[in-house]
Amino acid sequence: MLGLAGVPLGFRCLFLDPAADACAAAAGEVLQAAFDDEAAALALARRVDVATFDFENVPESSARAVEAVCPLYPGSKALGASQDRLVEKDLLSSLGAAVPPYHGVASRAELLDALDSVGYPAVLKTRRFGYDGKGQAVLRDGEDLERAWQQLGDSPLILEAFVPFQAECSLIGVRGRQGTTQGTTQGTTRGTTRFWPLTRNVHARGILALSLPGVFDDALQREAERIVQRLMDRLEYTGVLTVEFFLHQGRLLANEFAPRVHNSGHWTIDGAECSQFENHLRAIAGLPLGGTGMTRHSLMFNWIGGLPSRDAALAIDGLHWHEYGKQARPGRKVGHATLTAPSDAALRENAERLAALAGGQFPELLGSLLSGT
Ligand code: AMP
Repeated sequence: MLGLAGVPLGFRCLFLDPAADACAAAAGEVLQAAFDDEAAALALARRVDVATFDFENVPESSARAVEAVCPLYPGSKALGASQDRLVEKDLLSSLGAAVPPYHGVASRAELLDALDSVGYPAVLKTRRFGYDGKGQAVLRDGEDLERAWQQLGDSPLILEAFVPFQAECSLIGVRGRQGTTQGTTQGTTRGTTRFWPLTRNVHARGILALSLPGVFDDALQREAERIVQRLMDRLEYTGVLTVEFFLHQGRLLANEFAPRVHNSGHWTIDGAECSQFENHLRAIAGLPLGGTGMTRHSLMFNWIGGLPSRDAALAIDGLHWHEYGKQARPGRKVGHATLTAPSDAALRENAERLAALAGGQFPELLGSLLSGT
């Protein structure tokens, strides 16, 4: 999606991906290599004007190898901070963001101490290499604790209080290279930084299933923007950055950040003035940023583990289909669709049609999303 956004800007992209069937091949040349192959990272860096990444488990060492040869945005500092959940939570709380109670855990004794402090239920997570609910377990009692310790105890861990949140949401912002001139249109502009509207997210088994932007009030939007702005400033950030939050008792608790374009911003391709992908490219190339306002009511469905019928889906008004050309496998995101509509009522009606067509958990997830529970 980043590569596709580069085409109308006149950019030519070169990709590095370990997969033999990388979907980026549709948008440019792919060097097939592991992310920890520093020689391959260097080979890429020597051929480009500017580099970026869209996956935060790229090793910091590869990022540093690239940085030594060409500009890399965001840099290895932001990448490194996002790779360790303990460093990430410490950073977020040092910026004044509220976070769920948490403790680093390096031994069984520390786990028991941490549980004494946060109590059941709690969530045990590996500090590194977790995404889409991988490397984590909810602990409700001693049996869960034993099972989780068997599974995860070999890695450095973090224990967090389980948050019985009202909703999950994310704020995506983009910060230009310093000195970039700004236009002023829709969306929120602060210096060289812009934010899309807070997006409500619903997960199924730790994997994002639905995203609905523009449903939170201005006070929450401003609170989230303050946190993302501080994080960007602290990291001297260039590009798109995402912070995921829990809404709990009317307040935002920061869960984690991603130094990259984010799945909860895929709706921006079809429903915002400028997409997260285009704005990320504009930012890293030192170009003026585009507007981040919503142009229409939007709702994104993630296709996890397989695709519904494309042809039937396309018969729904305002449906935008995005297929990644990836082989279907349980738990794998293989595409998404964004519904756009001129009114909230039309969006709901079409969303119900799409949820019924997609089947599985979608009707129930959509029901809870639209009723606000
Ligand atoms: P993460 O990998 O931290 O984004 O976690 C994936 C999903 O697990 C989140 O989007 C939540 O739905 C859930 N989750 C993670 N941490 C917590 C927590 N402390 N309390 C409640 N749910 C959580």
